[in-house]
Amino acid sequence: MSPWVLRGLRNGVVTTRWPARPDPYADGWRGPATVLDPRPAGTADLALLCPTGAIGSQPDGSARLDQGRCILCGHCVRARPDVFGWSRGPGGAALTRDGLVVPETGETEQGLAAVRAALRARTAALRRSVHLRHVDAGSDGAEEQEISALLNPVYDIHRLGIFFTASPRHADVLLVTGAGAHGMAEPLRRTYDGMPDPKVVIAVGTDACGGGLLAGSYATSDGIGTVIGVDVWLPGSPPPPFSILHALLSALGRLGDGGKR
Ligand code: SF4
Repeated sequence: MSPWVLRGLRNGVVTTRWPARPDPYADGWRGPATVLDPRPAGTADLALLCPTGAIGSQPDGSARLDQGRCILCGHCVRARPDVFGWSRGPGGAALTRDGLVVPETGETEQGLAAVRAALRARTAALRRSVHLRHVDAGSDGAEEQEISALLNPVYDIHRLGIFFTASPRHADVLLVTGAGAHGMAEPLRRTYDGMPDPKVVIAVGTDACGGGLLAGSYATSDGIGTVIGVDVWLPGSPPPPFSILHALLSALGRLGDGGKR
């Protein structure tokens, strides 16, 4: 008997049932840094801890953190564990760019509900079979590894009726990775324009959300938000497959909460 058959019999079914059933592996993933205590003593130097400028302060002097710029380097968590910690679980995506800032400010629940309802109305026709087009707009390749993993036997994205396509004409959802390299701006716009309506854009990873370490560089546009409209912002460097799945299913209205934020 082939060793592959024996291995298959030994391992059994490895495919996750998430989201139909809870998966401890999904809940254990480490997400971007978050603020545990926004009003600690000695906030003056907190911003200096972060190499990407993700940490700042509110008008009242309390700490704030933009997860759309967090590359998970861990400097802030190691230096000030009384102020910063790690977020957990796959639900880190937001429906607005401001929604990635913690502690959450500015957005009223009403405003967020309106954004969520508009997205749900647009994607009502996409609840069954969905096709994804991926565009690399200046990525370092990390997000691509995680997107590729969606096709392996553990995540098996096909079980959810979600497939990749090479043609924008057949695509419903555009996954964009990378910091928004200027050289990819026009191909990205043309891909977006070539997709039929309704279409959904998901910025996958911190680079796509805010530029990451390349923010402020002459070569990028600090994320893809200035190139095309974004419906779902997913931070992480890179975000794991469960987070990408969560962002996708939230955008398609297949999760009860319609997206955490
Ligand atoms: S983990 Fe690193 S990149 Fe993220 S907020 Fe902390 S210092 Fe900044």
